[in-house]
Amino acid sequence: MSLASRNAIVTGSTSGIGLAIARALAKEGANIMINGFGEAEAIETIRTGIETEFGVKCIYSGADMSKGEEIAAMVKEAEDKLGSVDILVNNAGIQFVSPIEDFPLDKWDQIIAINMSSAFHAIRAAVPGMKARKWGRIINTASAHSLVASPFKAAYVTAKHGVAGLNKTVALELATFGVTSNCISPGYVWTPLVEKQIPDTMAARHLTRDQVINDVLLTAQPTKQFVTTDQVAALAVFLCSDAASQITGANISMDGGWTAA
Ligand code: NAD
Repeated sequence: MSLASRNAIVTGSTSGIGLAIARALAKEGANIMINGFGEAEAIETIRTGIETEFGVKCIYSGADMSKGEEIAAMVKEAEDKLGSVDILVNNAGIQFVSPIEDFPLDKWDQIIAINMSSAFHAIRAAVPGMKARKWGRIINTASAHSLVASPFKAAYVTAKHGVAGLNKTVALELATFGVTSNCISPGYVWTPLVEKQIPDTMAARHLTRDQVINDVLLTAQPTKQFVTTDQVAALAVFLCSDAASQITGANISMDGGWTAA
């Protein structure tokens, strides 16, 4: 499959799942706008690495996914510099773990903005171009937490359930325009996002690091293995293919059986 004529934005692609998706789309020939936070030098290494390794154009936007106007400007910049936005991967996300009665108000607002509202802002800005060209692929990195809950993750679970609802609505609105919208819902993927929540989960549940990994994280996953970023990226690439043109409004689990239970 070739995505040689396609241009993609992948939000939150300086790390983890987003980085793997950006590289996988570039490997298929798509030009990429990467986005996310990090050290300028490290981001530039990622950007130039994608260009030289895959022979595509790769540009970077530092837009903050908690700010609607920056997201709209990011989409416009991609349209101006790449020519179009054919593939939009809403992936940026953060986590915060706390009992609900102590949940910091600023963390709630931040997670709702970055993990949920950013997808709305990006889709809203990218859809007119996709509709006009009668082709588009919207992929939302949701989570098993878009389908089931875990304690101490009030904002994250709320945001991810919201993304799942947004995904279905967008799929219906765009069904006759050659534009699909889908969620990929991974279980636990070993990335900095998971690694960083271990200390807070240790505190919230009074557990050791090994207990959190084996008795909290991998307990949820019947396969007892972490999902890999490359596995998520491979599904994203498939969703961009012609073979996936009738998959829309779906929320596809990749969670080692977690949500089957
Ligand atoms: P990660 O921490 O490795 O990467 C997160 C990315 O988002 C980084 O590039 C970071 O810079 C970016 N980001 C954070 N805040 C941002 C902001 N305000 N503006 C722009 N970019 C911002 O995390 P990850 O595990 O790769 O997570 C990626 C997505 O996958 C998230 O939406 C997450 O909820 C989801 N997810 C992760 C897992 C998992 O187990 N790791 C499971 C299910 C879903």
